Amino acid sequence: MSDDLVNLVYLLAAVLFILGLRGLSHPRTAVRGNLMGATGMLLAVVVTLWNEDIVGFEVILAGVVVGALVGTLFALRVPLTAIPQLVALFNGFGGAASALVAGAALEAALLKVEEPDVQFTVASAATALIGSVTLLGSLVAFGKLQGVITERPLLIPGRHIINVTLALVCLGLAAWLVIDPTSSIAFWALAGVAALLGILLVIPIGGADMPVVISLLNSYSGLAAASTGFVLDNNVLIIAGSLVGAAGFILTSIMSRAMNRSLANVLFGGVGAVVASVAESDEVYAGKVKSTSAEEVAMLAEVARRVVIVPGYGMAVAQAQYAVRDLVNLLESRGVEVEFAIHPVAGRMPGHMNVLLAEANIPYDKLKEMDEINPTFPQTDLVLVIGANDVVNPMARETDPSVPIAGMPILNVDEARSIVVIKRSLSPGFAGIPNPLFAADNTLMLFGDAKQVAQDLVAALGR
Ligand code: NDP
Repeated sequence: MSDDLVNLVYLLAAVLFILGLRGLSHPRTAVRGNLMGATGMLLAVVVTLWNEDIVGFEVILAGVVVGALVGTLFALRVPLTAIPQLVALFNGFGGAASALVAGAALEAALLKVEEPDVQFTVASAATALIGSVTLLGSLVAFGKLQGVITERPLLIPGRHIINVTLALVCLGLAAWLVIDPTSSIAFWALAGVAALLGILLVIPIGGADMPVVISLLNSYSGLAAASTGFVLDNNVLIIAGSLVGAAGFILTSIMSRAMNRSLANVLFGGVGAVVASVAESDEVYAGKVKSTSAEEVAMLAEVARRVVIVPGYGMAVAQAQYAVRDLVNLLESRGVEVEFAIHPVAGRMPGHMNVLLAEANIPYDKLKEMDEINPTFPQTDLVLVIGANDVVNPMARETDPSVPIAGMPILNVDEARSIVVIKRSLSPGFAGIPNPLFAADNTLMLFGDAKQVAQDLVAALGR
């Protein structure tokens, strides 16, 4: 295959990636965007394997079939609530693949007794560094999201000095590889030290900040792929890696703005994090929590003119979106105005609530973002908080940095006339802290599984 033809196919793949990313920016075009990106990747992979005479046609086909089967199995079996963990693993494996490919290219060059040039060694060092940080950082993030590692920030004494020392050792090893391109030991040592750095950078970050970490690691995995592109002189890898790196970086800044976190805080893992000394739940709730029943809430809803629903992670766990849609239809048929308040980090992945509500065919125009809906809460008769917790926790307004969500913008539901919180118990949300909203004068707790409660509300309203 001529180089021109290969580059033409790579260009086509790059155009498909860009159109795919554009499609992913809106739920209506997201599926098409995803397909376009996947088609671009298939083209790029097949052309590369074919052109380089790496494997035969049959092996490519077998790889596509096995890959598609594994992908389909994952897509069907992993629940929507576990997608962030899956994304963390994807990022980590992407970083690992980049580092291993660069290492293999270096070893292959040395076996052929070729002396790698400066572009090759600089790019290899960058890949070892970023790829390994991404792999181990992502595994720690996976552990935190999966509950295998504590979600609380683990603050190792002297961690900043240790991190700076490790970063300097990495730079030294990279310089060694560039000066002496035959020293593959410098490459593997660099990968090992960077892996340690990856662990230490992510372990001090608390669970509530994981959305920012995941998008940042996503960006890192792209950068690792792009630098492997320079190792292999492969244009499509450079383009695809840069796109992932840039898209991940944009998402990181959107998420950190949404959570009012400085990017530096995330980049340098745990800067400014203080051991949480948050009030105990007994202090917050003692004697102040009022529980209610579906019948009472149905009565409140019937006389309301405006109801706002705040969905959260619990709605995803309970798969309550269909029952919630029935509830909305019933309320609207009674002349009640209903809107949804969507917090940017509600659930466990960016856009989680949008995806769930779209699944139940709830029209997009009912979904209001935080900045748009917040000024309307004082004119809202009833707020139904369905399985949300941290995103409505007034503790975020505290200036005390020991509160893990301090400074995070929240949905100001406590300004509404009445609030009903639907969840199974008084357990905390992802940030692990109590929520004074549950003990507020205008709040009633409706304990139960979100889907069951939504069905009970529909039944009570229908009577
Ligand atoms: P939270 O994690 O704060 O709270 C969810 C609540 O849902 C829990 O308190 C739980 O209470 C309740 N719940 C669980 N299962 C059910 C059920 N079956 N029925 C009813 N309720 C249920 O969720 P939020 O959406 O408010 O906040 C998201 C949090 O996750 C934030 O801290 C955010 O930073 C973090 N995060 C977000 C990511 C993202 O990209 N969006 C990624 C990673 C983390 P109970 O057990 O009592 O029922």
